[in-house]
Amino acid sequence: NQDKILEYRFIPYGDKQLLLIARDVTKFVQLEQMRRDFVANVSHELRTPLTVISGYLEMAPDDGQLPASVQQKAFKEMSSQAKRMQTLIEELLVLSRIEANVDQQFDNVVDVPSMLQTIATEANTLNREKQHEITFSVDPQLKVYGLETELRSAFSNLIFNAVHYTPAPGKIEVRWQLEGEDAVFRVRDNGEGIAAKHLSRLTERFYRVDKARSRRTGGSGLGLAIVKHVLSHHNSQLMIDSEVNVGSEFWFILSSELVATVSPQTLKQG
Ligand code: ADP
Repeated sequence: NQDKILEYRFIPYGDKQLLLIARDVTKFVQLEQMRRDFVANVSHELRTPLTVISGYLEMAPDDGQLPASVQQKAFKEMSSQAKRMQTLIEELLVLSRIEANVDQQFDNVVDVPSMLQTIATEANTLNREKQHEITFSVDPQLKVYGLETELRSAFSNLIFNAVHYTPAPGKIEVRWQLEGEDAVFRVRDNGEGIAAKHLSRLTERFYRVDKARSRRTGGSGLGLAIVKHVLSHHNSQLMIDSEVNVGSEFWFILSSELVATVSPQTLKQG
């Protein structure tokens, strides 16, 4: 197999013979490459905003007094770059926490409907400028077993992305409903869509369709990587249906074993 990377070693065998040992190190080499890429990406993502901030600081004269017009722009830009670094660091922490959570038990019932209500309020704040029409169709009974903070990250990342990547004024539909016996979450937008060639790489850390634009929206490039990890924890995966200039649907299924809907009957019995 040509894709395999083998490491060869000779070891003495008896008096006059050598034994050739071949070891398949493909996985190891790939992991090492991923680790290197990750460190390079993080460094790059942190260096860019820092360069902008130090650029402005160096521009300041010794007495620290900049002309008012420049000062306003400089503070605005420095604050937005600092925010960008903060978001990146927070999301890196979320990602590493999720990776550490692997063996955690899902003992808690997560009240997804009320979680979605909170996220809807946040989405409305985010939506002030864009004025998209956002609709939520949520089954008020549909709760699931899972990890609350993780699920919150997954739901909010997908909803906020729809707000960010849909030109104003767009239409965004959020659904959380039973389909058969499974719980299904869907976010559909009529935004810019994503070309097929990007789809398989979209959940990679730092992968973006349009780097410059995604940064302008404040994105860290880690959102969908977080969603992917969260869903894999919950035995699920992210599905994406998308068409350029038509829109996208991001969706996932939480299987019936995770559904914890409390029937009115059970509630009455206390
Ligand atoms: P980012 O922080 O850049 O938003 P994500 O991991 O959340 O990172 O998303 C990765 C990329 O996927 C984005 O940069 C964007 O190009 C694309 N993307 C995500 N959601 C949507 C959407 N609803 N419509 C179009 N493109 C999207």
